[in-house]
Amino acid sequence: MSDTRKGFGVSRGVAVGPVARMAAPAVVTPGSDHSGDGTPAERSAAAAAALASVADMLDERACGAGSDSADVLAALAMMVRDPTLLSAVDSAVGSGASAAVAITTAFGSFRAMLEAAGPYFAERVSDLDDLRDRAVAKVLGLPMPEIPDLDHPFVLVAHDLAPADTAVLDPAKVLAIVTERGGPSSHTAILAKSLGIPAVVCVGDGITVADEDVVLVDGALGTVQISPSDDEIERALARYRSEVEEARRASGPGRTADGTPVKLMVNIGASRDLETAAAADSEGVGLFRTEFLFLERATAPTQAEQIAVYTEVFDEFAGRRVVVRTLDAGADKPLEFVRHGQEPNPALGVRGLRTSRFNPCLLGDQLDAIAAAASKSSADVWVMAPMVSVAAEIREFADKARAAGLAVAGAMIEVPAAALRASTILEHGDFVSIGTNDLAQYTFAADRMLGAVGDLLDPWHPALLELIRITASAGQAAGKPVAVCGEAASDPELAPVLVGLGVRSLSMAPSAIPAVRTVLLRYPIDALEDAAALALGAEDGASARSAALSRLDRDRAPIA
Ligand code: PEP
Ligand code: MG
Repeated sequence: MSDTRKGFGVSRGVAVGPVARMAAPAVVTPGSDHSGDGTPAERSAAAAAALASVADMLDERACGAGSDSADVLAALAMMVRDPTLLSAVDSAVGSGASAAVAITTAFGSFRAMLEAAGPYFAERVSDLDDLRDRAVAKVLGLPMPEIPDLDHPFVLVAHDLAPADTAVLDPAKVLAIVTERGGPSSHTAILAKSLGIPAVVCVGDGITVADEDVVLVDGALGTVQISPSDDEIERALARYRSEVEEARRASGPGRTADGTPVKLMVNIGASRDLETAAAADSEGVGLFRTEFLFLERATAPTQAEQIAVYTEVFDEFAGRRVVVRTLDAGADKPLEFVRHGQEPNPALGVRGLRTSRFNPCLLGDQLDAIAAAASKSSADVWVMAPMVSVAAEIREFADKARAAGLAVAGAMIEVPAAALRASTILEHGDFVSIGTNDLAQYTFAADRMLGAVGDLLDPWHPALLELIRITASAGQAAGKPVAVCGEAASDPELAPVLVGLGVRSLSMAPSAIPAVRTVLLRYPIDALEDAAALALGAEDGASARSAALSRLDRDRAPIA
């Protein structure tokens, strides 16, 4: 049997193909490289040539980019050509540094200057780090830390992917994604699912595959088989085909075997998702992540621009519901035009709805733009605030939304305080939607971006299930809808348990809907409630999962 690595399967599907590795940035310390060979003049020249080639690459990309991105790229190219940077390189070389160390040192002093120059410049620090890594890779003759640009399809293997990497990923080329780090609710997971690309994350450091090695990736099982046999490939593909075939036979609104309705909705982000999302057999959009539209923007979108993009989405979903989440800026999704300085703990800082304390016009403008687009459309438009912690926040948000002409306003439940007091949130909001990605992050105090603590973010853990139960009960008591729109909703094993906990709407990547619809059709609601009760009573995530699945196995019925 071939060598197999196991991780979290975060996007279903089976793919087989040659590996292309995305290089990790080189870690440079004095004496750790050979770019110190040669005279000081040669070392300076090598460093200058590496910087020039990075600046040229930026100029080239600026030519092919839209006007906003082109401005950013051109500004970065100017930074790399700045004579102060070059003289900092020369002076480090003069003190005996290698070319790579001199580049790192020079960028280090630039970095400190930017950080000290105020919040706007501090936001550019990560760009600077990226440029440094590229220049260092160039001078050391190492592969660039970027998504490979090949003329054939490949399985992308990376240490981890940043939102900026995933934004430039070409779905026609990438057969599957494998990352050594990253958790089940990382942006790699969200993006892979939205593009329908099979993905396995958190397979552990040092996966021993080289470029062009063939791997078999199973996004449902969370496995990566290195050099699989023909037999192994055939078996995996056959299993996947039969799963797809079975899912194709079911259609229409979600429901349990005995007819309890469960809305199946789609999550959307960047405009490129739109057509696939609209074509999916769903009751509408349960989460429209509006910040994804503006990740690359240096300046806030105007009202007219916003009205145009929202109108496009509402037109695609004419006659269906669209839940628009206002900008969830900050932490893992920084927006350049929503600035609030450096924070020691951005996930606990000014993010989501909290940004409106400092930038109320941005929220006001967005609500007006959503209302203007909604007024011309037959979509049933709801608005929702991200990162609500206490009732006063949703009260204020709902007042603003209604003043803008939006009749239905709700809150995301992503913070344990909001889940525990969902009843008070629902006094002011018309509905809630549980963001299990952030709710897990804050419940387990484990950064969702950090693979090292990814195992703690287990959506099966009874602590998280209990918060979902409390929220769902509050919704039932208030007679108001409770949805789940985090990644947990798209897991065909966990989704039935969420319904058993009282959730009646599940929003997920379009590619995940068929499998979730199929599994719900197999069980009556009381079996789902039993499974949920067993999971709640378990000690940890693994035993919750096995208790729920064995209960469900008893009632598993063929789809009527
Ligand atoms: C969540 O936190 O579960 C969620 C849906 O929001 P996001 O992943 O965009 O933070
Ligand atoms: Mg969230």
